[in-house]
Amino acid sequence: TGHNLFSALRAAFPADLDGTAVETSAPDGSVLRYSWRDLDHASARIANLLAALKLPERSRVAAQVEKSVEALLLYLATLRAGHVFLPLNTAYRSAEIAYFIDNAEPAVVVCTPGNFSWVSKIAFTRGTQHVFTLGDDRSGSLLERASAHGAQHQPVPRQADDLAAIVYTSGTTGRSKGAMLTHGNLLSNALVLKDYWGFRPGDVLLHALPIFHVHGLFVAIHGALINASKMIWLARFDPRAVLAALPRTTVFMGVPTFYVRLLAEPGLDRQAASRMRLFICGSAPLLIETFDAWQQRTGHSILERYGMSETLMLSSNPYGADARHAGQSERRGATVGFALPGVGLRVADAADQPLPVGQIGQIQVQGPNVFKGYWRMPEQTAEAFTGAAPGDRWFKTGDLGQFDERGYLSIVGRSKDLIISGGYNVYPAEIEGCINALPGVAESALVGVPHPDFGEVGVAVVIAKPGAALDGEAIIATLRAQWANFKTPKRCFVVDELPRNAMGKVQKNLLREQYRGLFL
Ligand code: ATP
Ligand code: MG
Repeated sequence: TGHNLFSALRAAFPADLDGTAVETSAPDGSVLRYSWRDLDHASARIANLLAALKLPERSRVAAQVEKSVEALLLYLATLRAGHVFLPLNTAYRSAEIAYFIDNAEPAVVVCTPGNFSWVSKIAFTRGTQHVFTLGDDRSGSLLERASAHGAQHQPVPRQADDLAAIVYTSGTTGRSKGAMLTHGNLLSNALVLKDYWGFRPGDVLLHALPIFHVHGLFVAIHGALINASKMIWLARFDPRAVLAALPRTTVFMGVPTFYVRLLAEPGLDRQAASRMRLFICGSAPLLIETFDAWQQRTGHSILERYGMSETLMLSSNPYGADARHAGQSERRGATVGFALPGVGLRVADAADQPLPVGQIGQIQVQGPNVFKGYWRMPEQTAEAFTGAAPGDRWFKTGDLGQFDERGYLSIVGRSKDLIISGGYNVYPAEIEGCINALPGVAESALVGVPHPDFGEVGVAVVIAKPGAALDGEAIIATLRAQWANFKTPKRCFVVDELPRNAMGKVQKNLLREQYRGLFL
């Protein structure tokens, strides 16, 4: 079966196929257990259904469904059948779904029973042949149809270079782009993480992430499957449910907001986390305050890592001593650690030349984890890579960062969020870190808005800690005493919350739009 990712995952299943692979709760609260054999047989039935549809080779199979183990089975079945999986955010409505179906032209669309009427209309008018439904309670036509098929299926041979999935970027900086990920991209990243994060027999993964993104679908699920680890699934993140499950798990992966919300639970303490081996965080910046508070409350240092749809995981704080970096093992808050083994990572200037330690520039990456390009967007693909010779082709992440003397990378913001005020660069993360450290501040975002004299100026949007009263003018006065004038925000607004997308990322484009007229 060559390099079909499913074959590699299947080969890692434990000898005892009757053991529990995934434990979860049905919508009615009853406990559901899926054995390794269940994963194998049920994904075979769906793969046989896909085969019976006689789709063109390498068709896209799009899924906009609630999180359920059956959604995972659909992903595995798509790999087995040699097609290309296309997960879609459950929050998307008709305008977005129309865009994705236009762009990706899936042969199969799977949606929730409740969305069937409008999703199928969009899909059929755009040439999709098959629309199935899948509910989070095992209802719907997909499983009904699959149940008529056999439980044995031989994975379709695929090369490492063949597409396995198209993951649309979160759309934080503009229209989402479909990142084409290959069987080889996904397997190499899974194997590197298994090793770098020290996965071992007996690990149990607590899975509370959505499964329409790289984080929940690949980092978490592949991590567990390739290590033959049991997963405990929560249909959605709920801090109490996470606390209740912690004593039975060893590894937890979350986005920063998960950790913030867990810290608000009085039950979070050393005892609650005593069985845990590792807490991992990524997808958005983890505030140093959260990192420190977690350490104090639980005794654990959160391991922060960095990745994106286009590159999967590319850097990570160390789990143990990293021989490539003088044996350093410290997990350092506000950094995203070292390049993962096999991944090339550099900070480059505007001419794509590597910069020395300490200087800020664009983060660029190369390696077996880097995607093939954006689906049907050749110009964007060309722009996203340095133009140099094949061996020197680097993906331009669009993030700005710097290395410190110890080799740790930190992210200072996205290049699109960089503020150029009066000709000077203002890196949002620097100012945000300073605002966050002020008493009573929970969080902040700095965005650039047009200004007639300076071109752009910074506007700070701040959230107060519960019970604290903040004054925007006073914050600006404090900052002005510490920072150069061009770095000091010209206005500061205290608000109740920041606009975030499903992965907890602050949508700075929305803030920029909201405040763009302030000085015009
Ligand atoms: P789009 O590319 O459509 O604007 P997006 O970049 O948010 O959206 P994703 O691929 O889901 O889409 O997210 C990747 C981005 O998330 C990274 O480029 C980076 O900016 C951010 N990110 C991921 N991990 C971290 C981290 N540990 N710290 C800070 N930022 C992170
Ligand atoms: Mg991006």
